[in-house]
Amino acid sequence: MSGPQVTIDLGRIERNARAVVSACAAGGIKVFGVTKGTCGMPQVARAMLRGGVAGLAESRFENIRRLRESGISAPVMLLRSPPITRVEEVVRTVDVSMQSEPAIIRELSRIAERMGKVHDIILMIDLGDLREGVWPKDLLPTVEQILAMKGVRIAGVGTNLGCFGAIMPTEENLGQLVAHAYKVERLTGRQLDYVSGGASSSLPLLLDGVLPAGINNLRVGEAILQGGLETFRELPWDKIERDACKLTCDVIEVKLKPSRPIGRSGYDAFGNQPVFVDEGDRLRAIANIGREDVLIEGLVPLVKGVRVLGGSSDHLLMDVSDAEPPVSVGDRISFRMSYGAMLAAMTSEYIEKTPLHDVDAAAPRRKMVQIVADAKAGGVLARRGTGERLEAMGYDVVEPGDTDRLPAGLLRLTAGRDRRSALSGLAAAVGATHSLGLIWFDSRAAMAATGEAEAAELSVLAQALGLVDGPGPLQPQLSPENVVLVGLREASPAEAAILKQSRVTVFTMADIDALGMRDVMRQALQIATTGTLGFHVSYSPSVTEIRGWADGSGGITVRETHLAMEAIALNGGMISMDVSGLTPALDERVSTEALSFVMSAFGKRIL
Ligand SMILES: *Cc1c(COP(=O)(O)O)cnc(C)c1O
Repeated sequence: MSGPQVTIDLGRIERNARAVVSACAAGGIKVFGVTKGTCGMPQVARAMLRGGVAGLAESRFENIRRLRESGISAPVMLLRSPPITRVEEVVRTVDVSMQSEPAIIRELSRIAERMGKVHDIILMIDLGDLREGVWPKDLLPTVEQILAMKGVRIAGVGTNLGCFGAIMPTEENLGQLVAHAYKVERLTGRQLDYVSGGASSSLPLLLDGVLPAGINNLRVGEAILQGGLETFRELPWDKIERDACKLTCDVIEVKLKPSRPIGRSGYDAFGNQPVFVDEGDRLRAIANIGREDVLIEGLVPLVKGVRVLGGSSDHLLMDVSDAEPPVSVGDRISFRMSYGAMLAAMTSEYIEKTPLHDVDAAAPRRKMVQIVADAKAGGVLARRGTGERLEAMGYDVVEPGDTDRLPAGLLRLTAGRDRRSALSGLAAAVGATHSLGLIWFDSRAAMAATGEAEAAELSVLAQALGLVDGPGPLQPQLSPENVVLVGLREASPAEAAILKQSRVTVFTMADIDALGMRDVMRQALQIATTGTLGFHVSYSPSVTEIRGWADGSGGITVRETHLAMEAIALNGGMISMDVSGLTPALDERVSTEALSFVMSAFGKRIL
């Protein structure tokens, strides 16, 4: 790992979401998890959903698209009015949106009607924070106007506090929201689905038991992502954990220098005239992150005794004289981030974002494998003594169970006649985990967007990713962001177009030539393991140039294939593998090589 990195502890996010959801449930409140702080990262959204949130809330279309493309079908709330030119996207992609302008609501209605839909809106009321919202005295006339629009439905009312005007939610202003909700209900003659009483900042009222009855929805981001660092400040709520998101960067200089700059003083890189206090000579460190990446004022070092002095566009200056343990060049140093710093860091292209699972050290992976094959492939496996060879490597080979689900801790090897065996292998693997990566070795992409039976083999990957008829049985566990294609040599123009649009990562033969297999696999494993609980490996012999069979095919070499499989074994995250093309008609040399690659993936060493 090198370079600045934000690590996101998905276990903490899930637990925080659960704590917030259960506290809210006691008050009859449903929680929408706000993912905008992590740019709509699907892994974070899924962690929130596992924690029990009723839906997701987002402010940006790009983020909503990321969520939807990764197969998340939970209700999504749009937290901000769209520009008038993008209302169609709102109707198409979100379940409910927050609105405050009749002109935009009218356009929403017009478009929704044309699409044969009714779009749900939450009408925002400004209770004094002076950001968005209808002014209370205009509320009922606005509602009357909206009631005449056939393509929208007022599904709720809501308010936003503590944002622009820094106005705190109180019993009083949220009591007003509930009163406004009653008035709207009387006027519309219908009960509102949502009385949405704000964000994380409303949680303290709830915990104090003074949140007005009648509020039934909160949109919570900060408390789940940051553990209430800003919501609870001096009085932390002990049911949620901080530091789910941490920023880590590298120390690139440590030197003893004066604390006051020397020479004639002018302006710094950002046009300010800084003032320095003379503290004598101090040990100063520089880290490789700056104002281009993050809000420096929002960084709190997690190493005792380290103080942030400031920064320029690419350098962070720290006083490390009192650091404990001492800081030296080459160290990685971590920071807690304010919400603003996190937003900036998550948006910076220069910072790697790495969702992590807390690894359960108490449950070592048992070495057990089941082998599932169709009749013909089964014959080939048996002839090559596959089970015995795995046993010789220390695996217990167990009988396939009678369900398709793979119990946790059990590896699976699937073999079949053609690429369709990948689908059954993947189906078993998704049963064992809530999020799965895929490393796909093939000369072809199998991304044809066709559902026709005779072309099924050519669209296996598109089917697996739910790109043919929308999210399929492997969603949401399998998401394009965790899928890597290695060794691609052929793709039809249609496949190439689908690949470009998807979030799948592709390493073509040209990429492998340029980067080398070792680097390709380092990146591939990173993608397949980011935020997942393991990955599936799908191997088609056509990717490898095997002497006497596919001479001159331009595929990866036998040695490169072994190198790739050895990297997989070393990673330890493989939970399932499939090999296709195994029939008795297959050239002996190919089936021999293919099975020796399998052995490498399962951890066979030469010595
Ligand atoms: C960002 C946002 C939220 C979530 O705020 P947190 O402080 O992260 O809980 C809720 N509602 C609206 C309208 C927002 O823009």
